[in-house]
Amino acid sequence: MVHVLNSPTQAKLPIDFIVVGAGIAGLACAIALRRVGHRVRVFEKNQSLLELSGGCRLPPNLSKIFYHWGLEKEVRAIAVKSQAISLQLFESGESLGRHVWDEEVLRETRGEFMFTHYSDLLKLLYDTAVEYGAEVRLGAQVKYIDADAQQVTLESGEVISGDVIVGADGTMGLSRKIMLEDVEEEEQVSRLKLYSTTVSKDVIMQDPDLATLYESELETMFSWFGNGRAVLGFPLGGTPEFAVYTYCPRDGSDGSSWEDIAPIESFQTVHTVGERRLQKISQLASPPACPPLVDYPELEDWVHDSGRLLIIGQAAHPLPPGSIQECAMAVEDGAVLAKLFSHLRSVDQINSFLYAYQDLRQPRCTRVVQKEMGDIQFMTLPPGDFQEMRDGMMKAKRDAGLNVLDGAEGMEESAEWAEIKDVFGYDAEDEADNWWIEWGLLRERAKGANDFECGLVQKNIFVAQEGNAATLERV
Ligand SMILES: Cc1cc2nc3c(=O)[nH]c(=O)nc-3n(C[C@H](O)[C@H](O)[C@H](O)COP(=O)(O)OP(=O)(O)OC[C@H]3O[C@@H](n4cnc5c(N)ncnc54)[C@H](O)[C@@H]3O)c2cc1C
Repeated sequence: MVHVLNSPTQAKLPIDFIVVGAGIAGLACAIALRRVGHRVRVFEKNQSLLELSGGCRLPPNLSKIFYHWGLEKEVRAIAVKSQAISLQLFESGESLGRHVWDEEVLRETRGEFMFTHYSDLLKLLYDTAVEYGAEVRLGAQVKYIDADAQQVTLESGEVISGDVIVGADGTMGLSRKIMLEDVEEEEQVSRLKLYSTTVSKDVIMQDPDLATLYESELETMFSWFGNGRAVLGFPLGGTPEFAVYTYCPRDGSDGSSWEDIAPIESFQTVHTVGERRLQKISQLASPPACPPLVDYPELEDWVHDSGRLLIIGQAAHPLPPGSIQECAMAVEDGAVLAKLFSHLRSVDQINSFLYAYQDLRQPRCTRVVQKEMGDIQFMTLPPGDFQEMRDGMMKAKRDAGLNVLDGAEGMEESAEWAEIKDVFGYDAEDEADNWWIEWGLLRERAKGANDFECGLVQKNIFVAQEGNAATLERV
């Protein structure tokens, strides 16, 4: 049954979007665009959706978008809510303190922290996109994108035409390459990689040492800070499992993407210098996915010169694997794009909406990518002054009975917490609405005056009224 979703503004001129890639970015974008009345076809090279996967964190700025789309019940069915974070040292297990998310702050953000299996989230988005009428074709690899002709060619030779092409095909996809054009991307592979795996809750509960991970009265995330390595562990909704992300040095036998599975022995070796619980977890885990951390240069343009191709998600702004905002930024992109295109009533707005998307998203994503990279560095600091300062400050708050991310006594809040509120409190759809009110409407009025002088107003009204027709009149 199709959900009735908060009656979003419907585009007066529905157009045809072609989305390349059915990852989180592509599927969320398809849902968002269908909600405002556009026609969407999604092409995914994989024959089927991923069935098994690691964990995935949904921060408040992401969950609030799903809630707004009417998916609260569905998200709750696959996710658990997290209310606290517990921090300790990787090598010794010594506690660095705890942070319980302030209910009031979370209420302000209008979202929640949730943990789920990545594959469950992907399936939810796939089912929802299909339910809303998006055509999602699996096993349909796009071989060639012709942005000027607004066409994609599939591996099978089939040519698909549309009005706007959305490149949601990830860091190694075709569309990022097109945006790079002749520029050689100077990737800098960082010294770190991620291992992502899970352990069944049943297995964990059989060991009294590990059962402590589930004993907190609040569903808790655990962080272990170590010398050049760090571990994040959190319980997952759906199939009861404990997710483990381990950042550690690259060693030459690394994978190049999320699709690469590493031998379990290399994962276990990393934890031999870890506290007892980490050693045990590594013995019980499934072979992990092993994507590297790569410093990608920022792309200046996310909109192609043709004005008919844009990139979103990891294709546009690669976030480090396992970072808290990795899926969130992908969903925010689709939400903003669709909000802008909900105002579409004439073809000449397409260009301005695409550039508005770029203007809105680039500063936000740059800030978030930098913060996520900084957080990983903070967790993996080698022994030295910075590491001692980090541990000393946390322990002082721990001993004073304070939340580790709160400000010192007398201060309202720490810089870290203010930053967290900025990231989590952000409302992507509100930002797009604000752009429309501050800029979009002004442009429309200015254009309206111009059009009137040119005697075109009648034509625009006609095009807008014809908006429900199946094909877009190309101008
Ligand atoms: C296999 C896999 C497993 C992952 N597991 C996790 C996890 O456990 N936890 C987590 O937090 N994050 C995981 N991620 C990462 C996460 O999906 C992304 O980082 C984030 O959600 C945003 O992704 P995206 O949709 O922009 O890009 P991606 O997730 O990279 O999706 C891009 C999609 O485009 C498809 N594609 C690429 N080229 C073509 C083409 N030419 N034609 C058609 N389709 C194409 C790819 O097959 C892929 O489905 C995983 C990603 C992948 C690809």
